[in-house]
Amino acid sequence: MADSSLSAPSQSLSGSHTPAGPPGTKEPLDLPEHFEDVIEDLHVLRLPMVTRFRGITEREVALFSGPAGWAEFSPFTEYGTEEASRWLHAALECAGLLPGDRAGQPSASAAADAEPRTVAVNATLPACPPDEVEPVLARYGHVGTVKAKVAEHGLDSLDEDIERLREFRRLFPRTDLRLDANAGYSLDDGLRVCERFADFDLQYFEQPVPGVEDMARLREELVGRDLPIVLAADESIRKAEDPLRVAALGAAEVIIVKVQPLGGIAAARAVIDACGLPAVVSSALESSVGLAAGARLAAQLPRTVRSRALLGENPACGLGTVRLFATDVVADTAGMRPVDGAVPVTRIVPDPDRLQSLAVDPGRYDWWAQRLQQCWSRLRSGGRAD
Ligand SMILES: [Mg+2]
Repeated sequence: MADSSLSAPSQSLSGSHTPAGPPGTKEPLDLPEHFEDVIEDLHVLRLPMVTRFRGITEREVALFSGPAGWAEFSPFTEYGTEEASRWLHAALECAGLLPGDRAGQPSASAAADAEPRTVAVNATLPACPPDEVEPVLARYGHVGTVKAKVAEHGLDSLDEDIERLREFRRLFPRTDLRLDANAGYSLDDGLRVCERFADFDLQYFEQPVPGVEDMARLREELVGRDLPIVLAADESIRKAEDPLRVAALGAAEVIIVKVQPLGGIAAARAVIDACGLPAVVSSALESSVGLAAGARLAAQLPRTVRSRALLGENPACGLGTVRLFATDVVADTAGMRPVDGAVPVTRIVPDPDRLQSLAVDPGRYDWWAQRLQQCWSRLRSGGRAD
């Protein structure tokens, strides 16, 4: 893969002599053998969720601090070491703990001073009966962008999805509307539903079908039929190489990016620059500590002509997910809870009482400490040995 083209922008961003990204390449990091020599305050928390999401009702996150502030390491528990080590790379960057790294310091560049103080986030409209559309969205206050989930039961949900979207458009004729199918359609069905959804003036349609190849085929068909639907790739992007592949195959016009899976803010910026597609920052179901890193990335994204044309002047991010948790690591007013469609660009310091009250039991703590060490060793070896 194109390591040199990816790592160069990261270096200039961080001012580091150690290549900052993307991790998962063979570049070992100059780290001591044990993470405890660097990370002195590892906390592992269990956050209860309001409803089941992504198959889970509780989210476990590890938090620690460094010279630049607090960081979150929260790869989903089923992820293996290779994948999870990218999330650790992101957390080390966030805490300012990468060897030779100065990127995490708040005023590392003059550009940081010009960054906006908030970034817009979308509201989410889940599968619900049409008469619930208004009350569900009323909870978000004033928002400029709504993402409607579709395809809960694939094609079987289509009539209900259409009914809900009709009601949405009746209520909000001018609000930007995105759809997200979470790869819920086959290629044939994806094409069929696009013909129906084309009436709703969509900003974009997120991952109607699984896989980069099928996304590319679908897009080709849409262009051939002159159907004005912009495709965005989400599930197709899990690591730094993926956006480049999406761009190379013409599989989408917009990419959804998440800080932790891509290995950090510098690595994400490098990959966005390299792939050249407008990007929308989204959450990996993080606590406010992790979401804040997403907001900082969003605030730094280039506003290109293409991005303005597709996403408008103030593109909404998918960073309003803290409302999925029953409890966050800080009080609601101090965290990343959206207010009128925006979240702050800031750093979050977890509440010490919550670090205690939400802590996992010692067995779970040990599991996370062991996992962190495995990822640490992998970053240290550059993936040559675990
Ligand atoms: Mg999505």
